[in-house]
Amino acid sequence: MEIPSVYLERAVGQFATLPGIGQKTAMRLVLHLLRRERSDIEMFATIFHELAENVRYCVDCHNISDEEKCSICANPSRDHTTICVVESVQDVMAIEATQQYRGVYHVLGGIISPIDGIGPQDLEIPSLVKRACQPEVKEIILALSPTMEGDTTCFYIYRKLADATVSVTTLARGVAQNDQLQYTDEVTLGRSIVDRRPFKG
Ligand code: ZN
Repeated sequence: MEIPSVYLERAVGQFATLPGIGQKTAMRLVLHLLRRERSDIEMFATIFHELAENVRYCVDCHNISDEEKCSICANPSRDHTTICVVESVQDVMAIEATQQYRGVYHVLGGIISPIDGIGPQDLEIPSLVKRACQPEVKEIILALSPTMEGDTTCFYIYRKLADATVSVTTLARGVAQNDQLQYTDEVTLGRSIVDRRPFKG
């Protein structure tokens, strides 16, 4: 594609680095933006600048947060004895949307996937083990997607938790095999948390 402006080319190149956005879609989006008011374009720049400057990860659970601790960890009315282990920030949002869970979370930042080159060392597992060993913690819920990678990760964590005196549970069946947690409907996901069962290593 012959692009008549180096600035346009750079903007399109940036958009095209996003997942699911090819060169053509990137061009359409940038040209659309260009037709808008200059203040609209600058607003985009400001919002993303502030996003990069201010958003961080909760020191306890690694959820997205504007403060040192996320709003869930900082909430004294949440049940801090129960920790729900999830793959991603989107999974926290999906479980919160069910309104069936009052505990806190631990975001791993991925799951073990040798094909994608993701090993246990790339995930927030040591901090989970540390949290699980705190005397107030009673239960760890493994709420990972029921895929081969999810199962592998659950088993790895289960073994790492051998020395912690916590009960380890997992979601009840209902989240379909190979489904990603964040795409499971709210009712099914909510029920599978309420009906959770002991994890059998
Ligand atoms: Zn947190």
